[in-house]
Amino acid sequence: MNIRILLTAAAAIAFTSSAMAATPQHWSYEGAGGPTHWGALSAKFAACESGMEQSPVDLTHAVKADPADIEFHWNKDADWTVVNNGHSIQANSDDAGYIVLDGKDYKLAQFHFHTPSEHAIDGKRFPMEVHFVNVADDGEFAVIGAMIEGGGDNTLFDAVMDAAPAKEGGSAEIGKEDPASLLGQKDSFFRYEGSLTTPPCSQTVVWTIMKEPLKVSDAEIKKFQGIYQMNARPLQEIGRRFILEQ
Ligand SMILES: [Zn+2]
Repeated sequence: MNIRILLTAAAAIAFTSSAMAATPQHWSYEGAGGPTHWGALSAKFAACESGMEQSPVDLTHAVKADPADIEFHWNKDADWTVVNNGHSIQANSDDAGYIVLDGKDYKLAQFHFHTPSEHAIDGKRFPMEVHFVNVADDGEFAVIGAMIEGGGDNTLFDAVMDAAPAKEGGSAEIGKEDPASLLGQKDSFFRYEGSLTTPPCSQTVVWTIMKEPLKVSDAEIKKFQGIYQMNARPLQEIGRRFILEQ
């Protein structure tokens, strides 16, 4: 090794350690980076602590109303890449289509999973929950969730879990899949205004949670839980908000 390479290596190490020192505490689901500390980890995460419209919540005492239906224009043949992002297993696509809600378009960017479910229905949490993250041009979100339980079978869920990389940063292509096959019956749902359930906990989310749980194979649930044992934020106060139901 000549001196120039040595100097370059030394500079690289110095750069890496100073960059690491400047990195804030990584958020997580337990310990020093856990949910009760998120708001203090970074000024950008302040809403996690001070926000009055946080998610998830217990979906109970809902008001029977007529919340706007979602018009689905998801692409049945979207190409998906499954990644382990360090917080969940997530499927990303560039051509997944969009939804229309209250006259506004939201593009489907990704779906990912939590265990146990983050939302509760009348106090009950389920083994898992899927979140379909749809994003509008102005940066606002329309997230569609569904509870997941065992005792069934779902081809797309199998494909995602079979491809799920065990290591953070890993990714795998699963090819063309219809995202709607991970949502069961879409006519009955809860609707409320809330936040992202992960930092920065931005309060720019219209939530729709389907009432009908999706049934998948117990073995595939175990596969996810073998990678992430617990990645659910605790329930947040509903406060002055209303939960609508269809
Ligand atoms: Zn989520």
